[in-house]
Amino acid sequence: MSDVQDTPWHGDTEGNSSTLSLEQVEDNEATRLVAHVADLRRKIEEANYHYYVQDKPTLTDAEYDQLMLELQHIEKEHPELQTPDSPTQRVGAGPVQDVAQHRHPVPMLSLANARSAEELLAWHKRAQNILPNAAFTYVCELKIDGLAMALTYEKGKLTIGASRGDGMVGEDWTPNVRTIRTIPQTLRGEHIPERVEVRGEIYMSTKSFERLNAEMSNDKLFANPRNAAAGSLRQKDARITAARRLDFFAYQLGYLDGISCATQWDALQLLREWGFAVNPHIQPAQSLDDVLDYCKKWEQERFNLPYEIDGVVIKINDFAQQQELGTVARDPRWAIAFKYPPTQVATRLLDIRVNIGRTGSVNPWALLEPINIRGVTVSRASLHNEGDIQRKDLRIGDWVLVQRAGEVIPQVVKPIEERRTGQEAIYYLPERCPVCDTPIIRDPDEAMAYCPNTNCPARILESLIHFVSKGALDIESIGEKMCQQLYHAGYVKSVADFYTLTREQLLALEGIKEKSADNMLKAIEASKQRPFYRLLFGLNIRHMGEKTAQLITAVFPDIDSLLAAKEEEITDIPGIGPEIGRSVHAWLQQEENRALIACLRQYGVNMREEQRSADGPLAGQSFLLTGRLSSMTRPLAEEAIKKLGGTIATGVSKSLNHLIVGEDAGSKLAKAQKAGVPVHDEQWLLDLFKEHGVTVGA
Ligand code: NAD
Repeated sequence: MSDVQDTPWHGDTEGNSSTLSLEQVEDNEATRLVAHVADLRRKIEEANYHYYVQDKPTLTDAEYDQLMLELQHIEKEHPELQTPDSPTQRVGAGPVQDVAQHRHPVPMLSLANARSAEELLAWHKRAQNILPNAAFTYVCELKIDGLAMALTYEKGKLTIGASRGDGMVGEDWTPNVRTIRTIPQTLRGEHIPERVEVRGEIYMSTKSFERLNAEMSNDKLFANPRNAAAGSLRQKDARITAARRLDFFAYQLGYLDGISCATQWDALQLLREWGFAVNPHIQPAQSLDDVLDYCKKWEQERFNLPYEIDGVVIKINDFAQQQELGTVARDPRWAIAFKYPPTQVATRLLDIRVNIGRTGSVNPWALLEPINIRGVTVSRASLHNEGDIQRKDLRIGDWVLVQRAGEVIPQVVKPIEERRTGQEAIYYLPERCPVCDTPIIRDPDEAMAYCPNTNCPARILESLIHFVSKGALDIESIGEKMCQQLYHAGYVKSVADFYTLTREQLLALEGIKEKSADNMLKAIEASKQRPFYRLLFGLNIRHMGEKTAQLITAVFPDIDSLLAAKEEEITDIPGIGPEIGRSVHAWLQQEENRALIACLRQYGVNMREEQRSADGPLAGQSFLLTGRLSSMTRPLAEEAIKKLGGTIATGVSKSLNHLIVGEDAGSKLAKAQKAGVPVHDEQWLLDLFKEHGVTVGA
C-alpha cells in the first residue's frame, strides 16, 4: 500500500481539526507532502543502490515502478517540489568509487515507459505536437533485460567498454567486456569510422543463468538474469566474467565520426556489417498499428526466447526527427519502452519446510496452494535461507505473490499484508535436523544454517545424487531414483561405494535386468576418466561450484599438490576468495575426507588435470570457419578450437555461436547475418587463442 493512503491528510486523528485555521491546515498538508516526497525519494534511492550497485534488488520491479510513478505524479502536480537531484530526473546510480570512471561524451539516457496502447498513443501525440508536419516511421526492437553498455571503437579497435552508471559517468569495465565473445575486438567491413560509440545490452541467456544459479550457494543466488549479467560483468577479476557466458546485442549508435547514417534502421544494418550481433527480431513499422501488433505478438512469444525481455522499445526511425524531438529529463522523446506486466500471481503459503542439502545446508522451501503461472502448476518455491524469510516477513498462512524468476524458478516475492487475518504464524527454522535429529548449527558469518552430521541420511543421499550428476562424474544411467535404491539397499553409503558395486548386487535390485546392470557398470567405469575438476566438484565440498573447481585445478593440477596446499595458497587463486578457500582447505584436511580420496584413488578415479580437453573454456560453443585465413590453415584453426573444447559446426543455423570469416567468404556470411549469428574476423580468433594460451602456426 502506498504511503499516500496511510497518511492522514485532512485534520488530525483526534478529531480537533476545527481548532486549526485554514492556513494551518494547508501548512500541515504542505509539510506532510514534502515529508512524503522525501520518503519516496529515499526509498527509490535505496532501491537504486541495491539494484544498480549491489545487483541485488530489494523490491520487485512492479513495486519500484509504483514508487516512481507516485513521485512523478506528485512532482507533476507540484512542480515547486521538483529538484534536479530527484530520481525522476536522473538515470540509474553513480559509479562505485573503486572502479575507473568513464565520462560519456553523449549522455546515456533511460526510456519513458508505456504500459498500454493509450499510453503509447499519448507518446506519439506528444511527438506529433512538437513536429506537426512530420510523418513518423518506427523501428521496433525487443527490450533485452540486461545492462546497457557503451563500447568505444577507435580506428575500428575496441578501446573502452563502460556501463551507463548515472547516465553521465559510467564504470569502465573494458578488460571484462573484452571477454564477451559477441563483442568484436575489431570492427569488420569496409565502412569503418574514425571513432564510434556502439551501445547495446549485455545480457545472460536463461540457460546460462540457470546454470550459474545451480552452481551458486543459496545465499548468493541471483534473482534474475538481469542481475546475474550485471553481477557477472562487475567483477574485479575478468576471468570470472569470462567464465560466466555473457552475451551482447548492439542496438544503437552513441556517436559516429567519419561516416554518416540517417536512420535507426540503417544504423542497425551498419552494426551488423561491423560484426555485432543485432537482435534478429527487429522490425520496421510504418504506423502505430504495426507497432501495437509487434508489441502484442511478443507479449506471448517472449517466453520462447532463450533470453529475457521486459518489453519492446519503439524508436522513431529518422535521426533528423530524433534530433529535433530531443530529450526531457532522463528520457529521449523519440523512443519509448512498451513494458509487459510482470508475471506474478497470488496464492497461499501453506507451510514452510526444510530439506537438507548435499553439504548439510538447511534449505527452507515454501509449500504453496497449487497455482498456475503461465501454464505451469507451481506448488513449491525455494526460500533460500532463514534471513530471507525474515527480511520478507513471510508467515505461514499468508497470501503471497509468486513469480517465476528467470521465467523458470518459482520465487516467493512477498506477503500480501493487506490480506492478513491475524491467524498467520511466524516461522522459525527447526533447532534440530528433521532427518537425523542432530542440532543445527549457525555460523554468524554465513546466511545458511547446517546439519553438521556427515552421516545424516538426507545429506548422504543428496551427495550421491550430485556425484553422479552431469556436471560432476556424469554416471549415465544412475539417476536420483537409482541412488535411492542403492542407498536403501545398503550398497552405496559413500560416493566411493559406486566403484565397488558388483553385477550381482545390481541384479538383486528391484526392476534391474542384465542389460541395465551392465550399462551401469560401464558408466561407472567410464566415470573414472572424467577431468579432475569434475571430481572435485562432485565431492560435495561446501561452496565448491564447477567454476571454482576449474580455477583450483588450473593452479593445482593434481590431488597431491592440492592436498599439500596451504590455505592461503588456495585463497590467493584469483576468483576464489577467503570463504571458499577456507572451506576447501578445511575439507581437505579432515581425516575422513582424506580416507575417501585414498579410496577413490585406489579404485582408479582420475585425480590429475589433463591438458585442456573437450571440457575446456570453449565447451558448449560451436564455430564455423569460412573463407581463407591468412595466418593459419583452416584445419589447424579447427583443431585448436576443438582442443579448447569448442565444436565445429557443419553449416549455418540459428544455434551456431560463431562464424569466423576469412578472405573471399561465400554465402555462409550472408546466411549467418540473416540468422543473427555473431560474425568475427581472423584477428578475433587469434585473440581468442592467445587469451587461452594456444599458439597456432601456419
Ligand atoms: P529501463 O530498463 O526501463 O529502460 C532503459 C534501458 O533499456 C536502457 O538503458 C537499456 O539498457 C535497455 N534496453 C534494452 N533493449 C534496448 C533497446 N533495444 N534499445 C534501447 N534500450 C534498450 O530503464 P532503466 O532506467 O534502466 O531502469 C528502470 C527500470 O529498472 C525500472 O522501471 C524498474 O523496472 C527497474 N528497477 C528496479 C529496481 C528494483 O529495486 N527492483 C530498482 C531500479 C530500477
